[in-house]
Amino acid sequence: MSHESINKEKARRAAKHPDRPGEDCRAEPGQYSPVVDRARCEGKRDCVEVCPYGVFEVRRMEDADFDGLGFFARLKSRAHGRQTAYTPNADHCKACGLCVVACPEKAIQLVRR
Ligand code: SF4
Ligand code: SF4
Repeated sequence: MSHESINKEKARRAAKHPDRPGEDCRAEPGQYSPVVDRARCEGKRDCVEVCPYGVFEVRRMEDADFDGLGFFARLKSRAHGRQTAYTPNADHCKACGLCVVACPEKAIQLVRR
């Protein structure tokens, strides 16, 4: 897990956000997972920087996901080097909700599995 990528200031700000959803890290891992809207995500990495459990990874969007985007979303994605967030460690999510409020694009939803 990539705890060394944590930005403490951003995480602190997200923790105080009044709209933070989730269960304050009290959920058992695996009950919730973050879902990224690829049409919104701009690969800005705030999710990587605030998640205490190393759930996210930002990398080039896979072809299948890119092909599923609409015309304007594809243009936008190209403008951001096709970078997007994936959740290789979604099983570690404890539903703290920090990523949801930290994402500047409002691209993340926390869903019960
Ligand atoms: S989901 Fe939001 S915070 Fe994460 S990389 Fe995409 S734009 Fe950035
Ligand atoms: S809600 Fe889950 S994925 Fe989001 S920051 Fe918290 S532990 Fe990480």
